[in-house]
Amino acid sequence: MKIQWPRVCFVCHIPLDVDFQYTRDDEEKLFDEFLEFFPTPPNFHYNVSAKRRFNDGKFHPLCAWCFDNHRKIWINPSMVRDREIGKIKFAHPSPKGTTRAELETYLTNMKAYFAARRRHGDVYF
Ligand SMILES: [Zn+2]
Repeated sequence: MKIQWPRVCFVCHIPLDVDFQYTRDDEEKLFDEFLEFFPTPPNFHYNVSAKRRFNDGKFHPLCAWCFDNHRKIWINPSMVRDREIGKIKFAHPSPKGTTRAELETYLTNMKAYFAARRRHGDVYF
C-alpha cells in the first residue's frame, strides 16, 4: 500500500487529498476487509483541498474546515494596540481534520492487519 498526499493545509498543516495506491494484488481485498474493522477517521472528510487568496496575493491550499471558517483579520488601530499589549492573541487554530500522526496510527493498524491476514490466510474468515 502506497499512501501519498500532494499538499498540506496552509493554516493547520494537515495532509490534503490523501491517495491510497495498491502495490500488491491482494491489497484491495484486504483493504476492504480492514475498513469493516477500522473505518476511516470520522473527521477525514475535512482533508480535501480548496484554495483561497491570502494577503500576500497568492492562492494557498486549505482544508475544508479552514476554508469554511476562514477568519479575515481586519486591521484597525484598536486591534493592533490590543495585539501589541497582549490583550488578544492570534494563534493557529487546532486542526479539525485528520492530522499526520492520526493518519500514521491508522496506517500502522492497517499494516499490522495486512501482516496478520497474510500470515494466517483465509482460516479465520
Ligand atoms: Zn486547515
